[in-house]
Amino acid sequence: PKTTLVRSSANVKVVVRVRPPNDRERTENNRVVVKVVDEQLLIFDPKINTQSFFYHGVEQKGRDLLRKANKDLQFMFDRVFGFNCTNEEVFENTTKNLINSLMDGYNCSVFAYGATGAGKTHTMIGHSDNPGITYLTMAELFKAKQALHTERNFELGISYIEVYNELVQDLLNPGAPLQLRDDGRYGVMVAGIKVHKIENPQELFMLLAQGNSNRTQHPTDANAESSRSHAVFQVYIQMEFKATREVRAAKLSMIDLAGSERGSVTGYGGARFAEGANINKSLLALGNCINSLADGQKYVPYRDSKLTRLLKDSLGGNCQTVMVANVSPSSLSYDDTYNTLKYAMRAKKI
Ligand code: ADP
Ligand code: MG
Repeated sequence: PKTTLVRSSANVKVVVRVRPPNDRERTENNRVVVKVVDEQLLIFDPKINTQSFFYHGVEQKGRDLLRKANKDLQFMFDRVFGFNCTNEEVFENTTKNLINSLMDGYNCSVFAYGATGAGKTHTMIGHSDNPGITYLTMAELFKAKQALHTERNFELGISYIEVYNELVQDLLNPGAPLQLRDDGRYGVMVAGIKVHKIENPQELFMLLAQGNSNRTQHPTDANAESSRSHAVFQVYIQMEFKATREVRAAKLSMIDLAGSERGSVTGYGGARFAEGANINKSLLALGNCINSLADGQKYVPYRDSKLTRLLKDSLGGNCQTVMVANVSPSSLSYDDTYNTLKYAMRAKKI
């Protein structure tokens, strides 16, 4: 049995990342509705107009007259990242700290939550010239491996799967949907999954790119690429202490969640597609598990969806979790941003 480590800080870190406005948001008549006050505080729908609520130096008065009173809500998070923050900064302040836990043998999970277009994939995957936190975390893991190699033997393997419509697919080896089963060593495993051994972080980019090209695209809507699927990247770390032969295992899961616009409680207007309902199912189940953990309840409904079953051994207990809530700054995404902040606030109570 693992020794219980008493930690002074909570095991769940919730951060918010506000992406810069895009061209459309810059040119159309809309406001910035998220104000980053400092490294931990943001105001949603602030009352006081400051420079940042003007576009082209013109205050959007007509629009404001039609609006209800500003919510002017303050939210505190473990960290708030504004427009100018880089993936590197997000990494330094979030997942970098997970490496020690992994070396101690604790499972860790990282979620990118938010509406489609809010910046989840940018944060998790990024591009080859601007790598996301998955790559940066893996590079750090290889550093730790190098630093400890005289005392430990390491074996690293990765898998990259998609949960789409409550079906699990191997993104690195597409085929028939896979089943979940409980495995003694690693906890819940995907039956028949091919775990790829990797030796360096560069190999990772090829695998991530290969996997991303296999993500499900909705056949009738080219713009909805990947937005309905959860992409789950997992790293299995096995360590053998050379002196004692003790074996320690840990798992890191990094999840680019499906767009929350269909999963939000208020934003979900009728199940038009079975797939919508199913995606809702995994996101809702994740929310319910987080709520149960936040309330300190003994029963956590992990079995309610494929995603939460898969992550049963990586949420709660001594597991370290990072939730990156991604939001757009624009009033065009007012409801999505509000819902994402509420969801993230709930997770912070764990
Ligand atoms: P999501 O995965 O949540 O649907 P994306 O990560 O694809 O959203 O982001 C939508 C668009 O915004 C992409 O073109 C992406 O490159 C851009 N983007 C997102 N976050 C940032 C950021 N922090 N800085 C610059 N561009 C960003
Ligand atoms: Mg995406």
